[in-house]
Amino acid sequence: MATITTNFNDRTVDYKELLNDFKILLKNNSLKFTIQREVILETLYNSDEHLTPESLHHLIQEKHPDLKTGIATVYRTLALLEDSNMVTSLSFGAQGKKYELGAKEHHDHLICTECGSITEFVDEKIELRQHSITEQLGFKMSDHSMQIYGICKNCQEKK
Ligand SMILES: [Zn+2]
Ligand SMILES: [Zn+2]
Repeated sequence: MATITTNFNDRTVDYKELLNDFKILLKNNSLKFTIQREVILETLYNSDEHLTPESLHHLIQEKHPDLKTGIATVYRTLALLEDSNMVTSLSFGAQGKKYELGAKEHHDHLICTECGSITEFVDEKIELRQHSITEQLGFKMSDHSMQIYGICKNCQEKK
């Protein structure tokens, strides 16, 4: 039997390390390190969900209403983090993107196009197969992502 592991909630990277990388990233882009920007990173780090910019903004507003973090700051910070691969996104077509920290352990995704739920999984055989394919084709793989789109069990049962 192939081993399929689902849902990865472990934080594989130390927050201090991540914060340090973030500070360097801001500096390299001539941006100031602000508490609003830090809270964006911190909220992403502490969430086990894949978040839309809107839901991330909502979480921040709830926890730190005093900071008045604007949605535009959330969008810009996410774009910056994604450009530098610190954050990865899953595309939901017209519904936009959901983000998660790139520092999580590698995994692939099942995405429900009805309710937007996401299941994370890793299958050893798929992982190994990808390595042997790239090896055979003389390709040096640095990363891969796999998204499977369809309808989740819950949504199928509702019909
Ligand atoms: Zn669903
Ligand atoms: Zn994920």
